[in-house]
Amino acid sequence: MKKALKTYRHVLIISDHVHRERAKCKQRELQNRDRFVQLKVISQLGDGTVEALLSEQPIGSALILCGEGALETERVAVSLGYARNDIYIETQQQMRAFCSQCHHITSLVTHERFVCENCRNQLEPSEHYSSYHRAHLAYPVFIESDD
Ligand SMILES: [Zn+2]
Repeated sequence: MKKALKTYRHVLIISDHVHRERAKCKQRELQNRDRFVQLKVISQLGDGTVEALLSEQPIGSALILCGEGALETERVAVSLGYARNDIYIETQQQMRAFCSQCHHITSLVTHERFVCENCRNQLEPSEHYSSYHRAHLAYPVFIESDD
């Protein structure tokens, strides 16, 4: 179970330039609750500066990631000893679905059928949510022919 962000004394927000405004809002919101909130804006979440940033944080810090590459960064953080429950990923409010055939993740606007961008299977999102992929599992749709 994730704790509420306001229960952390120290929060690090890492954002790329694209999501800077969103990250600043988050920082202000948390700072109003007397938390120490550090915001780092870097060009890309996937680059090498992240590792150095992460390894100098006090134990038990929360981490908020804003931007492309957040999932990769989460993996780096976990490998450095962060608990998955202490990591928050701010994404656009889109639903994500992963293909049961090739595990490719597609961002969806609706819960309807879609075509996997990678393997071109027609898929239908299920209610099964994977916290590892942070996405819903999507199964292939078998289209019945009339003949
Ligand atoms: Zn696929």
